[in-house]
Order: sequence, then C-alpha cells, then structure tokens
Amino acid sequence: MGENIPESMEDLVYWTSRKIGNGNIKAWVYRGECPKCHKGLMGKPIGPDGKVKTRANYYECTECGNNIDKQGYEESLDCECIYTCPECSHKGEAVFPFKRKKYKGVDALVFNCEKCNAKIAITKKLKNV
Ligand SMILES: [Zn+2]
Ligand SMILES: [Zn+2]
Repeated sequence: MGENIPESMEDLVYWTSRKIGNGNIKAWVYRGECPKCHKGLMGKPIGPDGKVKTRANYYECTECGNNIDKQGYEESLDCECIYTCPECSHKGEAVFPFKRKKYKGVDALVFNCEKCNAKIAITKKLKNV
C-alpha cells in the first residue's frame, strides 16, 4: 500500500471522490484480469458500433470474450481507498471487498476506520444521467 492513487480512469471499474461529513474519501476499484485466460482484463462489453455498452449486466474479457455476471464479478474485486475519518479525522487507507451492503436502507460500500472503528459508508450516488 502507499499513495497509489490511480492516474487513469481507464483501468478502473469504479472511482469516487467525495466528502463524508467532516471527512473525505477517495475510493477506486481496478479492473480484474480474466479468470479464464489470465491475459485480458474484464471490462464492459463493446458493441458492434465500437461503443462501450455501459448498461450491460455482464463484463467481457478483452482477449477471449469470456463473460462474467456483473454482480458476481464486481464482488470478487477489492475496493481500495484513502480517507479522512469523519469521526476522528484520522487519515488512513483501507481495502475491502467491492460488495455493497444495506446501510441505513441504501446500498453502500461500508468499512471501518482503522483507528476509531467508526463505520464509514460510501453510498451509491444518485444517477446523474
Ligand atoms: Zn479471457
Ligand atoms: Zn476514525
């Protein structure tokens, strides 16, 4: 671990940077390699028109075309983050499964501050489409 904030969005499945109360968080998830051929990276499928099908509910390997269900694939990935705790102002890092849980009734990525153990939740942003 270290200050390894990704420089490019290209290899990411997820990226967020936001304020949470008095703290803030930057979190990201790297694309995983294909579990079948181990050569390609899993990404959203690309249609015949060359555009990424962002609404597809599966990921496709760039090399062998292997398909994985979106949810199953995402939950196998790790979310990395750097944060300033909204409770204790501790600056820390965390790695946790990219798996959303219910937090106060909404889907969120939840982890605990490594210092004060406060629950920090990254809730799903409203779609701004
Ligand atoms: Zn593959
Ligand atoms: Zn804390």
